[in-house]
Amino acid sequence: MQNEKKSSVKQKLTIIGGGITGLAVAYLAAKDGWDVTVLEGSEQIGGLMRTFQIAGNRLEHYYHHFFTNDAELVWLLRELDIADKLEFRKTTIGIFRNNSIYDFNTPMDLLKFKPMKMMDKIRFILSSIYLGKLADWKKWENVSALDWFYKYAGRSATDSVWKPLLEIKFGPYANKVPTAWMVGRLKQRMNSRQGTKEHLGYIKGSLQTLIDSLSKSLSAMGVKIILNARVERLLIKQNTLYGAETAKGVFNGGFFLATLPATHLVPLLRDNASDYAKELSRIEYSGAVCTILEMDRPFSNIYWLNVADPGFPFGGVIEHTNFISPDEYNGSHIIYLSRYFAQTDHIASASKKDILDQMIPSLKRINPQFKESWVKNNYVFRTNTAATVCGLNFSDAVPGCKTPISNLYIVNMSHIYPDERSCNNAIRIAAQACKKMGIDSSMVPFRSSLSGQIGMD
Ligand SMILES: Cc1cc2nc3c(=O)[nH]c(=O)nc-3n(C[C@H](O)[C@H](O)[C@H](O)COP(=O)(O)OP(=O)(O)OC[C@H]3O[C@@H](n4cnc5c(N)ncnc54)[C@H](O)[C@@H]3O)c2cc1C
Repeated sequence: MQNEKKSSVKQKLTIIGGGITGLAVAYLAAKDGWDVTVLEGSEQIGGLMRTFQIAGNRLEHYYHHFFTNDAELVWLLRELDIADKLEFRKTTIGIFRNNSIYDFNTPMDLLKFKPMKMMDKIRFILSSIYLGKLADWKKWENVSALDWFYKYAGRSATDSVWKPLLEIKFGPYANKVPTAWMVGRLKQRMNSRQGTKEHLGYIKGSLQTLIDSLSKSLSAMGVKIILNARVERLLIKQNTLYGAETAKGVFNGGFFLATLPATHLVPLLRDNASDYAKELSRIEYSGAVCTILEMDRPFSNIYWLNVADPGFPFGGVIEHTNFISPDEYNGSHIIYLSRYFAQTDHIASASKKDILDQMIPSLKRINPQFKESWVKNNYVFRTNTAATVCGLNFSDAVPGCKTPISNLYIVNMSHIYPDERSCNNAIRIAAQACKKMGIDSSMVPFRSSLSGQIGMD
């Protein structure tokens, strides 16, 4: 790994974007004695981890849970002295297929799962073990996951499990996803299982606990966090970046690290580094909308329900209060209805009312008892940059962390590939970017994550 040479003078770093990636870099750089400023475009830090007030508690705009092998996240929580807030619980998965809910947690559940033929059940197990335990992701970069599953897991296993799973995650881009991504995904899920049940983690008090603690610690280390400081222009002369222009003024000098989504960075480079902007515009993002319903009773007894029947406006029903007790929310029951979308999808610009009108009536198809009167409050959160769209051979599109423009470094979700985007992997790529800039990140553990390998040499 090639590092920048470090001088004995205190080095200056301006981080663009105050999501977990930018904040983790800020933490490591400040610890290493750098002079750090974070420019956050919105009125709050946290990015996709942001939370809101609901039923006497805070909750994530977008459902979040963690895995037992999220070593980098645990490291950060320990540093902040809040590791005891991360609690792991058994969770339940179900699949709605052929108008029925099937539990999908144990080998016995698989045996009882009618939509999959017996022969395909065996192929399902063997192909999952191969991808999750044995496969080298590099071998499978140029084969679509759906083609792979049809060939090795069989038609009924693919149609009832893998295709809906890819659709819930990637929406209209599902058929582009390489098998390499499934290798990362299955490694993450299999390592989070103890016995036959999956254990997932949640931070008590929501991700706000992490955001607040990190923010406090950064301030104590002298990091300047400037809110409402959307970078409007990058000032580049002779291929060297010397400043970032925001409504709060121009921030000059030192290194700059862009952690904002690549699609937000492209317009900042178009006028003064057009070839590089063109290269970055190969990275596309899918959007996501989460409709959150606060209800006076449970919807089902399952935490994560994949909706595998056609014709639904959402791909999953995530019943948060089947993971975290309703007692934490004054007895209310909370579900997320999750949908990923392409930027051209009408949902990208639909009103809140349109979204609710589409989503809520479909719940009756899953639970015929459901009545709109159960819903006490509703919330809709939407982002255009929920996940990078990984196509075949995506590693060719992942940009280098050190850019062709002097003083400019970038790190974003594309660097997580072939692993699944997550807070843990955001900390991993933050550590890798630090290494690249000559910031000490040796204390961050590097366990099973596949992220942070590409674009970092
Ligand atoms: C629906 C959904 C479910 C998820 N579920 C999980 C989960 O279960 N577990 C898990 O670990 N992870 C989950 N994630 C992923 C996790 O939230 C992200 O991987 C992580 O938060 C990304 O952090 P980031 O800092 O890279 O990017 P972001 O959070 O996108 O942060 C980028 C920041 O840049 C700022 N910005 C943008 N443009 C500018 C500009 N011009 N100037 C200044 N600032 C700018 C933005 O305001 C934002 O704060 C989920 C995400 C989604 C959308």
